[in-house]
Amino acid sequence: MKEMIYQTVCPGCNIGCGLYVRENEEGTLAVDFMKSSSANLGKLCRFGMKLPYHYSKATSMVDGKEADIETAVKAASDKLKGAKNMAMLAVGATTNEEHLAFTKIADALGIVVNTGIGAYEEIPSECHSSISQGIPLDDIEKASRIALFIDPYVQYPLLVRRLLAAKKNGATIVSLACQDLNLADENVSVNPADYKTELGLDDNSMIITDVHPHTDPEQVKNLLNLALMTGAKIMFMKPFVDSTGVHLFGKTAGQMGLQEIMDGINDGSIKTLVTLNSDLLELMPNTDEAAKTLEKLDNLIVMTSRDSPVNEMANIVIATEPLYAKAGSFMNVEGQVLNNSGESTVGIDAMSTLSQNLGGEASDFQTIHNKMMESVLQKYTAPKYSELECKVMETAAPSEDGGNLVSVYNPFMWCDQTDDNDFVIVNMTMVDKLGLRKGGMISLTSDAGSVNMRYTVRDIPDGLILTMKKLPVITGNTTEVKAEAV
Ligand code: SF4
Repeated sequence: MKEMIYQTVCPGCNIGCGLYVRENEEGTLAVDFMKSSSANLGKLCRFGMKLPYHYSKATSMVDGKEADIETAVKAASDKLKGAKNMAMLAVGATTNEEHLAFTKIADALGIVVNTGIGAYEEIPSECHSSISQGIPLDDIEKASRIALFIDPYVQYPLLVRRLLAAKKNGATIVSLACQDLNLADENVSVNPADYKTELGLDDNSMIITDVHPHTDPEQVKNLLNLALMTGAKIMFMKPFVDSTGVHLFGKTAGQMGLQEIMDGINDGSIKTLVTLNSDLLELMPNTDEAAKTLEKLDNLIVMTSRDSPVNEMANIVIATEPLYAKAGSFMNVEGQVLNNSGESTVGIDAMSTLSQNLGGEASDFQTIHNKMMESVLQKYTAPKYSELECKVMETAAPSEDGGNLVSVYNPFMWCDQTDDNDFVIVNMTMVDKLGLRKGGMISLTSDAGSVNMRYTVRDIPDGLILTMKKLPVITGNTTEVKAEAV
């Protein structure tokens, strides 16, 4: 049977693991390892191994009826002409070239493309490139001391290999993750004001943290200060395949975070939303709440390469080719440009037509790609920044009859896979306090609702309940919950 083989990049996070996707004549997909990929040397985490499940193909729709892509683009043009109160969202889950073509539609409409990371708006612009500019993953292996502000096992598994290599080379690792990490030499809980004195970092050290749509900007500022004061390198991991590219090549001024977009829809200041490979039902911590908000829109126009839950709600779906088949490139967390071998430009051509229908510029793949590569080749240095003023970060004390449910952030595409972390984590103090039975469940109740979950016991701070899954009780990164044994 004839097969197509595509060299591509896993869309699960911004590490940018290279792989091959094989597609047979019936459309069945399989994944092959790509040993020559420097980011991952052929290794893949569980998400990467299961990519064929992720790549369900989208269908173009207009008002709930199947349509061809030309009809969907025409319908979108008609809706957008003269529309007011519009917003656009593209988090970086597609190629650089598609992101730039999408930006041309925004230019025609006189608005910006939001990447959904609100933290940028609260951090001085001279720091932005220190956050978005990549540094080589190899540098992790050369550091003498590493301060971890993420849980690599849960969030970015392919980092574990780098951290173990660093240890082999003599590095010590101090972890400030929510739960103790076996690979760390020290697991500590330190007040941000004491990071500089307590963590023992210097200019041979590396700080590894992440930035994503729900990041607290105060933590980003604290860590930028820590890097500035100690001379340590700082690496911001990111959740989407082109998270680095969209911030380097896109327009960062006047951006709204995901929550601001949702607030805008709720207060009526956003009536029309256009998204590119960005499903707010997946991106927001509480899917049901997000669905109620999206129902308030007059127009929801979705451009997408996969069949994700928001397509069901959209007035118009413009379905493009799967990510692996696109002509285009991605920029990973190291700042490396990674090219797809695919040659399809269906998505860019649809965006070009939409832009022209709205009086804007046409987009041609090769022209966009060449321009993007020219700007990559320019020598780039991050501007210097001065010490930033930070607010004191406070964690709410857990209530008497419950705890703080903390969402341990996963790159979004992994969330809610059926076999993935279907339990919450508590410590022995909470087991005793609530009288949790072996094999029993824990009931969690917040303003958003109630849920019963299986639990597992680990050594985590008192009052915390950790989840790696989206739960219907979650209202943010930290949710105060009433907890009971059931
Ligand atoms: S580490 Fe990230 S890019 Fe690599 S396989 Fe896993 S999800 Fe994909």
